Amino acid sequence: MSIDRLVVVGGSLAGLRAVEAARKAGFSGSVTLIGAEEHLPYDRPPLSKAYLEVLEGGAEPEKPYFRSDDVYSEELDVELMLGRPATGLDTVRRVVTVGGEFEVGYDALVIATGAAVRHIPGTQHLEGVFGLRTLDDSIGVRAALDAGARTVVIGAGFIGSEVASGANKRGVEVTIVEALPTPLVRATGKQMGAAIAALHERNGTTLRCGTGVAAIEGDGRVERVVLDDGTVIPADLVVVGIGVAPCVEWLEGSGLTVDNGIVCDANLWTGAPGVYAAGDVANWVNPVFGIRQRMENWTAAAEQGAAAARNALDPENAKPYGTVPYFWSDWYDVRIQFVGLPDADEVVLVDGDTDQDGRWVALYRQGDRLIGALTVNGQTEIMKYRVLISKGATWQEGLDHAAKRHALAAEKAAAAAQAQCPPNRGSRQESFLEVGDSVLEVDQHALEVGESPPVADDADVHAVVVAGHCDVGGLAFGDE
Ligand SMILES: Cc1cc2nc3c(=O)[nH]c(=O)nc-3n(C[C@H](O)[C@H](O)[C@H](O)COP(=O)(O)OP(=O)(O)OC[C@H]3O[C@@H](n4cnc5c(N)ncnc54)[C@H](O)[C@@H]3O)c2cc1C
Repeated sequence: MSIDRLVVVGGSLAGLRAVEAARKAGFSGSVTLIGAEEHLPYDRPPLSKAYLEVLEGGAEPEKPYFRSDDVYSEELDVELMLGRPATGLDTVRRVVTVGGEFEVGYDALVIATGAAVRHIPGTQHLEGVFGLRTLDDSIGVRAALDAGARTVVIGAGFIGSEVASGANKRGVEVTIVEALPTPLVRATGKQMGAAIAALHERNGTTLRCGTGVAAIEGDGRVERVVLDDGTVIPADLVVVGIGVAPCVEWLEGSGLTVDNGIVCDANLWTGAPGVYAAGDVANWVNPVFGIRQRMENWTAAAEQGAAAARNALDPENAKPYGTVPYFWSDWYDVRIQFVGLPDADEVVLVDGDTDQDGRWVALYRQGDRLIGALTVNGQTEIMKYRVLISKGATWQEGLDHAAKRHALAAEKAAAAAQAQCPPNRGSRQESFLEVGDSVLEVDQHALEVGESPPVADDADVHAVVVAGHCDVGGLAFGDE
């Protein structure tokens, strides 16, 4: 059938990338983007990072919108239906119901409704208790931090840890409460979870592991958190970071298979004619590892949005979407990055010392394969491991690579010491730029301090990593 109408449900990263990819592929039919939030599509990683920071002169941070209003109307020619959730899907008549009121017909549909935070039952009526998923959440948390709120973060996952780090930087009292004995086990494994969590204590944030929350109390507004062991922690702000659930309720009765997200194949196809899924809501088969996965990270959401749209518009030539998963997190001026899978038979620290805040690299082995890598301040290393994993490198190849990098770094350090590199100048360096949904390697590009990296003006630069024998102290351009 001819495809004249593309509808995208979910007005955020994956949804926007779907729209952009459709236009980039030359699709000239109508495009409609339906989003539950009132805001234009915006970026979420800054919400727990830069958006919480104190700015000079008490300035308000800019809202992290991906694109301005006119780009949607003029460049992308997309009809925006914002502030109205999709409430139903009929895959036989090919219509989406919006706000329970009217229907929007489609020939091709991309579902990118993401995920929403889990709440602690019975606490949502209390002022000062937040999840952190939306711009509105972040505005509320920021205002509380501005007022010097005594902060309790429930859940020592990445987002909770970023909030705690932001609160700590502002000098407010902050405690993290984590029910598990070790945080981040699912994301990074036990050994590295413990090592990363130690960053909190080293930076002066109290972390209480292995104890649950018995109650969050207050009279209209939160006043205290009571732990299972009876401890009472006074609180003006509670940020609940206990995970998210995919937004699928609206699909009830649609016939789509829902099981920890929308079940789809390697092409992101749901099995219903013309219906594809992308981003945090998609539970798809990742051909790189041959396993079913639902990701909750920026890179996969961006890439899947684009891939789902391309496949939806040209199903005859649909291509599988495969990836070596990647995420990053920033706490206390430390960048944590992970590629691959954390379910390992063995984790080996191949560089650095986890008792120090400097740089470390850990590799993950499954059988005789390298399946994952974790770096702390290892921005020059991480993407190289991603490439190795994507090529199916053996464990030994991973170790050999690590040894080579280690030797090279030592050589460079020695050369730098000898050359006494001027402190304010870049040098020839190895760098990676993550640009939107791709990673651009700019090996040997010489950058001066303050120089813009060689990327398009409108690119979303999520990390610019610079190192070399004359490290200029971490150049960062547009870093979130
Ligand atoms: C605070 C925060 C920090 C993060 N930091 C990092 C990081 O450092 N690194 C990293 O890799 N990842 C990070 N992430 C994760 C990353 O932002 C997500 O993986 C990404 O936003 C997923 O994009 P998405 O478009 O699939 O879903 P979402 O961003 O969740 O967007 C889905 C959109 O669909 C809308 N929607 C839901 N239901 C409906 C409906 N029925 N009808 C219409 N619209 C609907 C939602 O309101 C939402 O706007 C972070 C996330 C958060 C919240």
